[in-house]
Amino acid sequence: MFDLKIVSGSDEIFNQGKHLAFFGRSNVGKSSTINALLNNKAAAKTSKTPGKTVTFNFFDITPKESEADSGLRYLVDLPGYGYARHGEKFREKLRRRLIWYLNESEADIEFFCLVLDAKAGLTDIDRSALDLAEQAGLPVLVLVNKVDKLNQKDLSTLQKELKRELLPYPVVYRVMYYSAKTKKGVNEIKQLLQLG
Ligand code: GDP
Repeated sequence: MFDLKIVSGSDEIFNQGKHLAFFGRSNVGKSSTINALLNNKAAAKTSKTPGKTVTFNFFDITPKESEADSGLRYLVDLPGYGYARHGEKFREKLRRRLIWYLNESEADIEFFCLVLDAKAGLTDIDRSALDLAEQAGLPVLVLVNKVDKLNQKDLSTLQKELKRELLPYPVVYRVMYYSAKTKKGVNEIKQLLQLG
């Protein structure tokens, strides 16, 4: 549960500057999204938590000296749920670490970014993630990826559906639709997250 604490230099990770935390079921395109958002930032992956199974990746997103200081320091790639090979025990371990990171580490989390797959919509794993963010009092940015797979009609159906499904979660600050593949909508997210 305290693996994160023993990464050398990790205190700095938790005590200085703001975090953007990214969560998503496996295969929703979380890695592709992070790459698309950071492509101009020459982001250095600063540390990996030890342990073979549960990994938090921290990307240094400190603005360059020439840029306005947004206060952001780390983009945090949270471990993904949903691999078939992961059993109940693993999921519980993951959940405990997420709860620790969201509530007990001293991380100043600006947004909890929940990445969804436009084809799959909101799943039970996503609802649990929304509950965790709500319990931690964090604003959630819902990032709906892979819109290139939908035609206009299906996209508008999904938008209506998500509007209704997300109604019980007042922690949701915005819902953004984009494609990490075609980059449609990616700039709007960069602007919102001050990753320009
Ligand atoms: P992760 O497991 O959530 O990190 O997902 P990845 O970034 O590895 O992507 C999973 C799969 O989805 C890969 O085959 C990607 O090429 C594909 N993918 C990611 N983003 C998009 C997108 O916007 N559109 C489409 N069509 N495929 C995507």
